[in-house]
Amino acid sequence: MLNLLLFGPPGSGKGTQSQKIIEKYQLFHFSTGDVLRRHRKEGTELGKQAQEYITAGKLVPDSLIIDLVKTTLRENTQVKGYIFDGFPRTVAQAQALDELMKEQNSAISGMISLLVPDDELRARLKKRAIEENRPDDQDEKVINTRIETYKNETLPVADYYKAQGKLYELNGVGDIEAIFQSICQVIDSMPQ
Ligand code: AMP
Repeated sequence: MLNLLLFGPPGSGKGTQSQKIIEKYQLFHFSTGDVLRRHRKEGTELGKQAQEYITAGKLVPDSLIIDLVKTTLRENTQVKGYIFDGFPRTVAQAQALDELMKEQNSAISGMISLLVPDDELRARLKKRAIEENRPDDQDEKVINTRIETYKNETLPVADYYKAQGKLYELNGVGDIEAIFQSICQVIDSMPQ
């Protein structure tokens, strides 16, 4: 089973590249951000609980996210593999994911980390705010919180997978297709 983690700060291109990866490798795409936005729209209990964190640019508590991932994985076992996009964002989430993978007699194959400088991220988020009308992309203060949260709480997740020899860092700036080709090279070199 090929189980990928797509990692990078907000605006690094995870969503765009995930779409291309799932098409080529036929993986089950799981973006915790997309699922949370759906819950908000539908007004579910989880959506209501997550709302204040998302609008402030902070992380939704681990317990809510881990429950969501647990349910989704257990409901979708007949798949070729998973691509996690925007998850895990804390070391506690990464540890929980490793346990869940073990339950399925599987493991994370590798983490692909897209490296993009801060200025470029801010420019991309501003553009996305107009194109996708995402409220958390509109406010400069919220953008700053999200980038800071990424550095403080999420970057240690890369070290967690580095220690397991599963971290692959790639340049996330430039032509979308060229970045995708370098991602494919990395995926094809991963042990499955
Ligand atoms: P994203 O679309 O991945 O940038 O996620 C948008 C927002 O949803 C984030 O700023 C967080 O508030 C929340 N979120 C998404 N995924 C997670 C996660 N794995 N852990 C905690 N919060 C998350």
